[in-house]
Amino acid sequence: MHRPDAPPPTLRLRIDEEALASNWRTLDRLSGSARAGAAVKADAYGLSAAKVIPVLRDAGANDFFVAHWGEVGELLDHVPASRISVLHGPANAQDSAYARALGVRPVINSLHQAKVWIECGGGPCDLMIDTGMNRLGVRPEELGDPLAGRLEIETALSHLASADEDSALNPLQLSRATQAFAAVSAKERSLANSAGIALGKDYAFDLTRPGLALYGGVPRGELAGSIRQVVTPEAAILQVRTVQPGETIGYNATFTADRPVRAGIVSIGYADGFLRCWSGKGVLRAGEADLPLLGRVSMDMAVIDLSQAPHLREGDWVEIPWHLPEAAARSGLSQYELLTTLGHRFSR
Ligand SMILES: *Cc1c(COP(=O)(O)O)cnc(C)c1O
Repeated sequence: MHRPDAPPPTLRLRIDEEALASNWRTLDRLSGSARAGAAVKADAYGLSAAKVIPVLRDAGANDFFVAHWGEVGELLDHVPASRISVLHGPANAQDSAYARALGVRPVINSLHQAKVWIECGGGPCDLMIDTGMNRLGVRPEELGDPLAGRLEIETALSHLASADEDSALNPLQLSRATQAFAAVSAKERSLANSAGIALGKDYAFDLTRPGLALYGGVPRGELAGSIRQVVTPEAAILQVRTVQPGETIGYNATFTADRPVRAGIVSIGYADGFLRCWSGKGVLRAGEADLPLLGRVSMDMAVIDLSQAPHLREGDWVEIPWHLPEAAARSGLSQYELLTTLGHRFSR
């Protein structure tokens, strides 16, 4: 039987493709003589890899980083396999065989992964060197191991732990990375994420790996004037009702009306990434009007005060302010969490 298409969703993510392309060009320019790649893991930080990757590619991005092997497939429709690096690396022969079959580059994170990769036949790879984060990566003192010497390294990588702060760890990691890069034979070297790009040209080496700032995040003040907002969530009003004085709204009755309140029930909840920490703090918008949240955010709905926008009706759309530095300050969530928790029910 023919199944009809679903009606249009009551949630949509507006993605400003021009701002996205502009952010990549800005970060590429700030990378000086290095070129900017793009971290597109976690479905391009929640925006949708299928939507984001063609825009970044057309803007000039050539080098794409994902975390999981399962994230590779989506990219292959848009960019050559040889430009995709998989940050988690090959845990076993199956991962290695997959990388070799496609021609995707694994990031080797340990001598064990080096062994796994070489025993499966090896080939071009990247090498992550840990210079102080103690997350993934080969330790600098392990670089002399014969296994490391047998790798065909395209890009030697390291990753900054505190680039979004003025930390003594930044110059320390820079000096350790400089030494470690000199100890391996790699075609290229790469250290800086978005915040690292703002630390200056010394940190850029040959290739930078911005993620957050592509999508409108501002991890350091230096980037504030030049990075544009990319993502704006919007939700439809499902119902308008008048709440009488003394009545309460939502789970646990945390809001009590002290006057007749014209309230809008909006189709967004914590399952969509509009988390409960917004309760009592969030203010939605319609044009110039502020629409404060009333009571708790629930899974699929939130309730707003429509006093400032008496013209709004069921079916009208409201905007969730998602300027990332401001939304992070207001909610207590990180700019990364604000992006990557946006759920699957948005049309993108
Ligand atoms: C996620 C990630 C990046 C991008 O970092 P941003 O802070 O989002 O710019 C760069 N390099 C590695 C290894 C990463 O895991």
